[in-house]
Amino acid sequence: MSFGNGRTCLYPSTVSAFPVIFKSPDPQIRAGNVKFPGKYYQCCQQSFGLSMRCQDDYNPAMLLFDPDALLDFPRYGIAIPALDSRKIRTLEALKILPSLTNRQSEWLVESFSETTTLEDLLRVNENDYARGFFDSRAAGQLKSAYELVNPDGSYNRWDPDSAISPLEDMVPSLMRMLAGTRKAGEIALSTGFCHYLGGGAHHGHYSFGHGFCPLNDTAIAIRRLQADGKIRRAWVIDVDAHKGDGTAALFADDQSIFTLSAHMAHGWPLDDSIPAGHPSRIPSNLDIDVDSGEEDQYLERLQKGLLEMKERSDADIVFVLAGADPWEGDQLPSTGPLKLSMEQMKERDQMIWNFLDQTGIPSAWLTAGGYGDNSWQIHTAFLSWILPQRLG
Ligand SMILES: [Zn+2]
Repeated sequence: MSFGNGRTCLYPSTVSAFPVIFKSPDPQIRAGNVKFPGKYYQCCQQSFGLSMRCQDDYNPAMLLFDPDALLDFPRYGIAIPALDSRKIRTLEALKILPSLTNRQSEWLVESFSETTTLEDLLRVNENDYARGFFDSRAAGQLKSAYELVNPDGSYNRWDPDSAISPLEDMVPSLMRMLAGTRKAGEIALSTGFCHYLGGGAHHGHYSFGHGFCPLNDTAIAIRRLQADGKIRRAWVIDVDAHKGDGTAALFADDQSIFTLSAHMAHGWPLDDSIPAGHPSRIPSNLDIDVDSGEEDQYLERLQKGLLEMKERSDADIVFVLAGADPWEGDQLPSTGPLKLSMEQMKERDQMIWNFLDQTGIPSAWLTAGGYGDNSWQIHTAFLSWILPQRLG
């Protein structure tokens, strides 16, 4: 039986009895899709063995984009420089790549129908906070998470008079954005890899949101995949410029999840504005704090961190928060303390990919942070490298 990557593995003689769980004879063989006999089967290493499942509607999607999951901040009078154009321009750039342009059906899913339910939120969030997104408290919770009102009552990056729609109308798009992360995880479990043009709201906490993150999509996705019996254990590799504080806090007491965050050592949410004892101060399982001027050590320290994570834990899936905001060209002032070059950003993503390819653990990649007109270039650089490689 051959995997798409050319490796082979043993398979049970009664291939009709799927799903089948068995031990892989080769620890390097962890995930992939196989065609045998005449049908596709997804093959995925999990903590309880190698599972194989027949897929009658096999779709080797690698990139997930949903226009209905875009948050469209200007519609609500919000001037946060997290632009939908980052995702749209990335997609446009990939569509015209000679190696991809005629093969879109093989790598692209442009919409999905799922959304996020109250039940999904309640696996992660405090009861009142979760319910608040579905009643009259939604606008207030969004104002707080997007930091639209200053302590003195003045508006911050918000002009309600210019809004086309009231803030609470954002909730359906927000729920779809959250669902995209779960969908990317499900696709990754099928194919080994999926990149979602969305997600990565890592500042969402148990009973509040901040840093432009009302709810933590990664945590919601992991809890749903666990509840559905699709995974037991997960890694979160967060290389956004800002510490993944919400993710660290939400999983702090959970041995089934390993959180790694490489981030600005003293930038928000680790600056003086966040007091001692605040949930943002709860450490990840592995924090890599990078100070200004230490950019030349970033890749080496990240590589060591990945290896340490592998020594300390195992996972059925990895969520990679591949934020573009450590890039020196990022236009959000709070990312100023970390200035990686374009080359370092490319190397970061390729290094993480190569590491995960070696482990064979399925990975779902999320765009996370990235601000201003040019951050689409970071995601495009990685995707234009990995998609043709995966297509073969
Ligand atoms: Zn960020």
